[in-house]
Amino acid sequence: MNSFSNPGHVAILGGGIFGVSTAVQLARRDIRVTLVTDGDLASGASGRSLAWLNTAGQRSLPYHALRLAGIDRWKTWRLNHPEHAEALHFSGGLTWAGEGESFRERHSYERSLGYDSVWVSAEQAAELVPGIDPGVIAEEGAIFNPGEGWVDLPTVIGILAAEVRDRGGRVLENVGRCSVVTEGGRATAIATEDSSRIDADVVVVAAGPQTPALLGEAGVGVGDDSPAAFVAVTRPVESDLQTVLNTPNVAIRRAVDGGLIMDSGWSEESIRIAQDGSLEIDDAVVARLLEEASAVLTGHPTLELDYIGAGYKPIPGDGEPVVGPVDELAGLYTAFSHSGATLGLLVGELLANEIVDGVASPLLDTFRPSRFSRGE
Ligand SMILES: Cc1cc2nc3c(=O)[nH]c(=O)nc-3n(C[C@H](O)[C@H](O)[C@H](O)COP(=O)(O)OP(=O)(O)OC[C@H]3O[C@@H](n4cnc5c(N)ncnc54)[C@H](O)[C@@H]3O)c2cc1C
Repeated sequence: MNSFSNPGHVAILGGGIFGVSTAVQLARRDIRVTLVTDGDLASGASGRSLAWLNTAGQRSLPYHALRLAGIDRWKTWRLNHPEHAEALHFSGGLTWAGEGESFRERHSYERSLGYDSVWVSAEQAAELVPGIDPGVIAEEGAIFNPGEGWVDLPTVIGILAAEVRDRGGRVLENVGRCSVVTEGGRATAIATEDSSRIDADVVVVAAGPQTPALLGEAGVGVGDDSPAAFVAVTRPVESDLQTVLNTPNVAIRRAVDGGLIMDSGWSEESIRIAQDGSLEIDDAVVARLLEEASAVLTGHPTLELDYIGAGYKPIPGDGEPVVGPVDELAGLYTAFSHSGATLGLLVGELLANEIVDGVASPLLDTFRPSRFSRGE
């Protein structure tokens, strides 16, 4: 564990779900906290996420356990915040295989872990999941995961940030690009773009896809596999769909304003990175994505694009979360992960507890940043 417990002041770099959920947990424990972020809150990956809450499919058992606990936290949040019901839905997830594939094994595996996974025919799927066209479901059937859902991260981030401020914490937006200050082998401050300095006993880097670069500047190597990605968001549309759909050509969920949010592997792969680093997305790709979404919905509604949310999707080099103290630099902690929507509340809680108590969570054992420097 890092050398600091019960710190006087914690400075957090990053106004996404990980940064804000860590900040609120620290503030609830009466720790003085300052969060800084370059733009508005939720202007990074958290603001353009499919945010499907799940641990479907196959992954390491520790990662599965962490995600299960992550979903559990969201269920508690939902119970405690009926007034924000629009931001968090548990209406299940439906997924089926593409041509030449079968999801039977995936279903058996999910069941073997005790993950709620129900095999359904197209007709049963249509009953369980209003709003879909059963004609497009694979002939073999589909997997329905009743315990899954989705969250509108910007809403939750706004609520948590307000609580941080209410509890006396500072949340500083639009401060430009920040970096970690290191002195005498420890992280001592965050420097903002205008060279002001926020001194702290502990610094947390939760900068989404920018995390590996920021840690790299501080001399800490963390594997990075963050791809360019985008979601297409439609204008509000008449549809009974509430369940998250993961279909062969498009993943879709509802948006809080009645629109739909969608992405897919093939559309992500079509993104071009221009010489100036900007992401270029063809109109034809977006049009096809909207068509793929329309094709799986009852009545095949015309979907109108509202906006595109494009940027990098945070994915560590080995695909597993990176959470906890950075062994190479005292006073520095980080949180960097794909599935950050699923893990959002939980990771903030575990990280804050480790910072305050100095006690390592066994749930995070295999996710430590130092596995990269050890070459694991
Ligand atoms: C297209 C897409 C689909 C996804 N689908 C899912 C899903 O279905 N389920 C799921 O669980 N997860 C999903 N994710 C992943 C999830 O959204 C992310 O893991 C999570 O939002 C990351 O939150 P974060 O706080 O780590 O980072 P971010 O939300 O990126 O927040 C980091 C913040 O730090 C700021 N920042 C960065 N660098 C600096 C700097 N140098 N100085 C100051 N500020 C800085 C950024 O502007 C940003 O606001 C998806 C992500 C994407 C992009």
